[in-house]
Amino acid sequence: MERRLYEQDHELFRESFRAFVEREIVPHHERWEREGKVDKAMFRAAGAGGFLGMAIPETYGGGGVDDFRYNAVVGEEIVAAGVASSGMCITLHNDVCIPYFLRYADDDQRRRWFPGLVDGTLMTAIAMTEPHTGSDLAGIRTSAVLDGDEYVLNGSKTFITNGINADLVIVVARTSDDPHGGLTLLVVEEGMEGFTRGRNLEKMGLHAQDTAELFFDEVRVPVANRLGEEGMGFYQLVENLPQERLSIAVGAMAGAEAAFELALDYAKQRTAFGRPIGSFQHNRFLLAELKTEIDLGRVFVDRLVADHVEGRLTIEQAAEAKWWTTELLNRVVDRGVQLHGGYGYMLEYPIARAFLDARVQTIFGGTTEIMKEIIGRGLGL
Ligand SMILES: Cc1cc2nc3c(=O)[nH]c(=O)nc-3n(C[C@H](O)[C@H](O)[C@H](O)COP(=O)(O)OP(=O)(O)OC[C@H]3O[C@@H](n4cnc5c(N)ncnc54)[C@H](O)[C@@H]3O)c2cc1C
Repeated sequence: MERRLYEQDHELFRESFRAFVEREIVPHHERWEREGKVDKAMFRAAGAGGFLGMAIPETYGGGGVDDFRYNAVVGEEIVAAGVASSGMCITLHNDVCIPYFLRYADDDQRRRWFPGLVDGTLMTAIAMTEPHTGSDLAGIRTSAVLDGDEYVLNGSKTFITNGINADLVIVVARTSDDPHGGLTLLVVEEGMEGFTRGRNLEKMGLHAQDTAELFFDEVRVPVANRLGEEGMGFYQLVENLPQERLSIAVGAMAGAEAAFELALDYAKQRTAFGRPIGSFQHNRFLLAELKTEIDLGRVFVDRLVADHVEGRLTIEQAAEAKWWTTELLNRVVDRGVQLHGGYGYMLEYPIARAFLDARVQTIFGGTTEIMKEIIGRGLGL
């Protein structure tokens, strides 16, 4: 389906990022999947190539162009190349973490961190989820108590993407009992005393993406590392989560399209009862239905990306895109496995890996159920 979202500059950027993926990620992807994380040298190479912090001002080395379409190109290309788990450190950094720095960092923080965010020497993570609370952000217990010009941070986080590799972690901490008005964002740096990382968690899929527990034991975080005002954390999350969800939707659509192509190719090649399996009416209708849904999703997500570039993305529409596209992705990979028969269950077939990588998409960034809660609230229900 012809897309109208991108202009020539985005397509040139796509070509250049695609070449980067082929050169710097694809040859190492299998090894990183086995090792559970990427080499940080790849992240620095992404910085050198101009693929990190495109929205950061040029004075700090960034691209100076705040246009989410460049982020979307990156997200689409890593998925299309089948290396989502290796590339996720880049999308998490660009789409999810950097916006907090861009919006809330003061001049001193900009000077300290922006150059590293752009050149890849500072990889980021954001730590909201705790062992006992995920969907319910107001239940966060990790505490930060002010002592002079430092916060004393205690608690733990879990399921943190880039958790092993990150150099800077935006930690959502509780600075007062007020459920929403008591959360504050603090930037914890690699090497701070009392900051330790747990194991790299063993996941069903996304194996090259490090996901970890983080522990904070009397970590003294300077007030100078606070992003924005004390007590504004919850509202900062609400402001930034729509872009995170749109980013997931962009990846989900690219994933659905890629998985569909795998399924379609297989359905044309594999024969049973003397015919290609795709020619049986059941399978032909199945593929026709998936193709229809993919085209519908594509139009919707492209439109939301365009709206976002114009500053008009709503919380509810980001939630709609997030839940619907990730559920679609899961339908496509599930039917794709089925069409592959026994081969679909074999990890050497890309559809099997796509199936495993897809499952988490309806969970992280806010579950499908929480997205429907947000949409329902927007309807006044
Ligand atoms: C691979 C991976 C990477 C992740 N990366 C990060 C990260 O970088 N940073 C970070 O902070 N977190 C991260 N997470 C955590 C993720 O965001 C949470 O797992 C998710 O928000 C759900 O929280 P939970 O696991 O505590 O589930 P819970 O909140 O306990 O939910 C359990 C179930 O109950 C349902 N439920 C909860 N509340 C309601 C409700 N009101 N109505 C209906 N159903 C409800 C949920 O939808 C879900 O089905 C990651 C998770 C994974 C698996």
